[in-house]
Amino acid sequence: MKAAAFDYVKPRSMDQVISLLQEHGDDARLLAGGQSLLASLNMRLSEPRLLVDINGLDALRGIGVQGGMLRIGALTTHTEIEGSALVAQHAPLLSAAAPHIAHRAIRNAGTWGGSIAHADAAAEWPACLLALGGTVVAQGPKGERRVAADDFFQGLYATALEPDEVLVAAEIPLAAPGSWFAFDELARRRGDYAIVGMAIAGRRSAGVLADTRIVLMGVASTPLRARMTEALLNGKVADEALAATAAASLRAEIDPLPDLTNSPETKRHLAGVLLQRLLNGAHA
Ligand SMILES: Cc1cc2nc3c(=O)[nH]c(=O)nc-3n(C[C@H](O)[C@H](O)[C@H](O)COP(=O)(O)OP(=O)(O)OC[C@H]3O[C@@H](n4cnc5c(N)ncnc54)[C@H](O)[C@@H]3O)c2cc1C
Repeated sequence: MKAAAFDYVKPRSMDQVISLLQEHGDDARLLAGGQSLLASLNMRLSEPRLLVDINGLDALRGIGVQGGMLRIGALTTHTEIEGSALVAQHAPLLSAAAPHIAHRAIRNAGTWGGSIAHADAAAEWPACLLALGGTVVAQGPKGERRVAADDFFQGLYATALEPDEVLVAAEIPLAAPGSWFAFDELARRRGDYAIVGMAIAGRRSAGVLADTRIVLMGVASTPLRARMTEALLNGKVADEALAATAAASLRAEIDPLPDLTNSPETKRHLAGVLLQRLLNGAHA
C-alpha cells in the first residue's frame, strides 16, 4: 500500500513548528526519523494532511551534561546514543539497550524523541527513560515544561504531550557511585521488537539494593514498573535466593497482555526469567 496524499513542510524555527501544530491540529504530524510514522502512513493506519519535518531544527540535536542531568536532544539518533562516550559514562543503561533496537539502518535514522513520543510499549527508550527516572522536556505555545517519565506514558501510544507540543529533549539523572543498571530482552530474532524486555536501575551499597526501578517492555499498553517487586528488593542483599523470590513475586504481580504469538503465561514466565538473570548478574 501507499500513503494517502499529504502536504509536506520543513520549518526552520520552533515557533513555526508550533504555530503549524496549532493551526492544523490533528491533521498534522511531526516527522523525525520516519521509522515508525512512514510505516503507519503506508499502511493507512494514519492519514494526516500535513507532515511537519523537524529535521531542520538543529537545536534538537546532540547530547550534553546540563544542570546535573544528561540531556539528549529529540533528534539524536539511536546510533549516536549507542556510540556516545557521554552516554556510556553517565547513562550506561542506554548503551546496553541501544544494540537491541531494530537493525543498523533503522538505528541510523530513528530518533530518541521519536521513540519516546511514539511510546511503543515494547520499545527500548521509553522503558529505559522510566527506569532511570528521567524527564521529558516539551515545548508548546506557552513555552517549555517538564514531565516526569512516571507521568508521561499514559496508554497505548498515548503520552502527556499536548497536540501542539514538541518533545525537544529528555533528561536523565547522572549515574553516581553505587548506581547499577541492567538491561536484557527476549526476542524471536535479533532486531525484532522484544516479546518481553526489562530495564533495571538502582543503587547498591555493600550488596544492599536501594531505589530499585524495574521496568518491563512488551507486557502492557505502556512500559510497566513492577513496584511490588521493587519494594521487595529494596533493603536486601542481592543473591541467588533473592533473585528466585523476586522472580516469583514479579510473576504474581504482572498480568501480561498477549501478542500475536505469545500468551500471557509465556510472557509471565519470560519476565521472571529475565529478572532472575539480571539480578544474578548484579551480584556476580
Ligand atoms: C522494521 C522496524 C523495526 C523496528 N524495531 C524497533 C525496536 O526493536 N525497538 C524500538 O524501540 N523501535 C523499533 N523500531 C522503531 C524505531 O526505533 C523508530 O525510530 C522510533 O519508534 C520512532 O522514531 P522516529 O525518529 O523514526 O520517529 P517518526 O517515525 O518520525 O515519528 C514517530 C511518531 O512520533 C512523533 N514524533 C517524532 N518526533 C517527535 C517529537 N520530537 N516531538 C513530538 N512528537 C514526535 C511523530 O509525529 C510520530 O507520530 C522499528 C522500526 C522498524 C521500521
